[in-house]
Amino acid sequence: MASGYRGRFAPSPTGPLHAGSLVAALASWLDARAHGGAWLVRIEDVDTPRCVPGADRLILEQLAACGLVSDEPVCWQSTRGAHYQAALDRLIAQGDAYPCACSRKDIEAALHAAGRHRERHHAAVYPGTCRPERGGLQGKAARAWRLQVYPGEMHWQDRRLGAQQQDVAAEVGDFVLRRADGLWAYQLAVVVDDAAQGITHVVRGEDLADNTPRQILLQRALGLPTPSYLHTPLVRDASGDKLSKQNGAKALDLRDPLAALQTAAAVLGLPGAAGPLHEALARWTRAWPWREPITG
Ligand code: GLU
Repeated sequence: MASGYRGRFAPSPTGPLHAGSLVAALASWLDARAHGGAWLVRIEDVDTPRCVPGADRLILEQLAACGLVSDEPVCWQSTRGAHYQAALDRLIAQGDAYPCACSRKDIEAALHAAGRHRERHHAAVYPGTCRPERGGLQGKAARAWRLQVYPGEMHWQDRRLGAQQQDVAAEVGDFVLRRADGLWAYQLAVVVDDAAQGITHVVRGEDLADNTPRQILLQRALGLPTPSYLHTPLVRDASGDKLSKQNGAKALDLRDPLAALQTAAAVLGLPGAAGPLHEALARWTRAWPWREPITG
């Protein structure tokens, strides 16, 4: 590759690609090509209860029909548990991760007792019950593992959204790395794999933007580099909600991949482009507005 740029598209195989996920796929591919970089596909199948059998293959077929093919062998997160365990072990050894015995009910009760149940983010903010300095598990069985987060505003730069900030301790709290059901949390898996694959540029949907500060905290705790981030506009349905597999977004119609790509390109503010497919992709690559100097 001509540059050190390495990007990726990382779908969760909870269903086929839809109009919204194709925007992230196309944007990440165009950004990689516009910077002379590599584009990788990673199947994020850690949340096994939400995965649909065969959806991974279908997604890869849909991408291929759109001319979007991974430059390197596709990676499945379900094969990478040992790497997530090694990262968790390191965080435990450093005193950054601790075991938690709380059920959802325990957390609700603790927030209620503290009068914090009416706060805007109360449902998500863990009250720190099992923190080591508060006595840890106190004889209860460990269910999940959490990252200890310290108060303070985290600042980061998004290539499209500009300057962003979040106080992770106040807005999210000590977040889960390994779930009570034994499954690896998205935050840990994505950070370990972005680093393992040498990803320099993350391009993904804007709905994931507020995960970024958690991921940067984990990168720092694990001594890993922070990639640059670009969050793409979301596709909304008629009622203004984000399109997602959960709200029944239709699978892409593969009989006309160019039409699907044209819709995705329009969301990204790119000009119309006629076929054939590779010419449309080349035109959008030339028109790609989010260019930055690449070093390395
Ligand atoms: N697997 C995540 C999803 O499909 C995306 C992860 C990412 O791009 O960081 O929502």
